Amino acid sequence: MRILLYGATGTIADSVFKIVENNQKKLKVVAATCNKNYKKLEKLRIKYSIEKIGINNHEAAEKYKLQNSKINSKHLLIGNDNFSEFITKDIDVIILAISGLSPLNLSYDIAKSGKIIGLANKECIISLGPRLLLLAKKNKSKIIPLDSEHNSIYRLLESNNNKFKSITITASGGPFLNKKISFLKNVTPNQAIKHPVWKMGKKISVDSSTMMNKALEIIEAKYLFNLNSDQINAIIHPESIIHAAINFYDNSSISLLSKPDMKIPISYLLQVNDNLNTNDNIFQQLNKKNLSFYKINKNRFPAIKLAYKVLEIGGLAPHIFNYNNEILVDHFLQKKIRFLDIVNYNEITIKKFLKSNKNITQPNLKDIHNCSLWINKNIFLGKI
Ligand code: NDP
Ligand code: MG
Repeated sequence: MRILLYGATGTIADSVFKIVENNQKKLKVVAATCNKNYKKLEKLRIKYSIEKIGINNHEAAEKYKLQNSKINSKHLLIGNDNFSEFITKDIDVIILAISGLSPLNLSYDIAKSGKIIGLANKECIISLGPRLLLLAKKNKSKIIPLDSEHNSIYRLLESNNNKFKSITITASGGPFLNKKISFLKNVTPNQAIKHPVWKMGKKISVDSSTMMNKALEIIEAKYLFNLNSDQINAIIHPESIIHAAINFYDNSSISLLSKPDMKIPISYLLQVNDNLNTNDNIFQQLNKKNLSFYKINKNRFPAIKLAYKVLEIGGLAPHIFNYNNEILVDHFLQKKIRFLDIVNYNEITIKKFLKSNKNITQPNLKDIHNCSLWINKNIFLGKI
């Protein structure tokens, strides 16, 4: 399988490369991209004999060219919007593991590719919504979600055609699950990026700590599996062993159990299963660990309430929720706003948008870009 890997210097990509390393006869990364971390990308290029690379950040690309003057310019692309040139006939699988909304245009081209697509990036699904899924369907592209909860649902649906009533996705609860709101007021970026179970990039780690990650995943599930919002439940499961379940009308459920390890959904995508270096099944691995489940406290984690509201409003609202969050997380990481402001300020901007009567029922890519411009000008960042 020849793989095109967008976001090759990130945490998801680290797992992809581990699998590739263990399956060198079957798998090859032929093209890979990064934003700024050209040094890591160059190391990967050499180690895995990657044929073509892409660097989004222009300054980083110039530095790369200075330090690697022998690189054939045909083998280096600069800027996300040019990265769709990597989608050539000989590619079998595309993995989109860039974080955030910057690959919005790119995700459109990926959906049109007709390839097998491993979609780790959830932000583009949320903002583009049904349009992305429809585009993929029209062009016979096969989207396999890599987000562990959605990957579980995908696998469960593949092996079970029965009519189901609803789905449940689980949330680890992040690092502040049992902390008081008074503690949350003073949380620092360093505390927020330390996840108790998963090793992830900074943005998604902060999203986990505010429960925005689960909020976004509720929307992601709606679009991926074409559900009504009342068919999607989320519960806390700190051990992250059960990732999701499908619930039937007779009140029975089926679920997928696995260690919290992104190599599992990725190896499902790449159709290899000998990479996990263990013969133990999940019950042997659990080693006396109890599995626990709790309701989400929506007062402590208002992001969940907001997700359902946003789904009810529809149109551009999911994009606004998503894009606001990206900006607010960035401000939090730069210590410009406080932890609880991330979700509170998001809600303020959503209300402001609704008052402006600018919502569009079925937004296209241009509408979404225009809406982002509106947010850039109008987002509430605490300065009245
Ligand atoms: P990381 O932050 O670890 O990696 C992000 C990757 O995207 C890096 O290669 C980075 O390049 C690149 N990138 C970042 N910004 C841009 C940009 N503006 N233009 C082009 N490339 C960019 O993130 P993760 O690997 O943790 O997550 C990737 C995606 O997968 C996210 O959407 C996340 O929600 C999703 N996901 C991740 C999970 C996980 O366990 N990590 C689980 C489920 C979903 P550079 O290194 O140069 O900055
Ligand atoms: Mg997830």
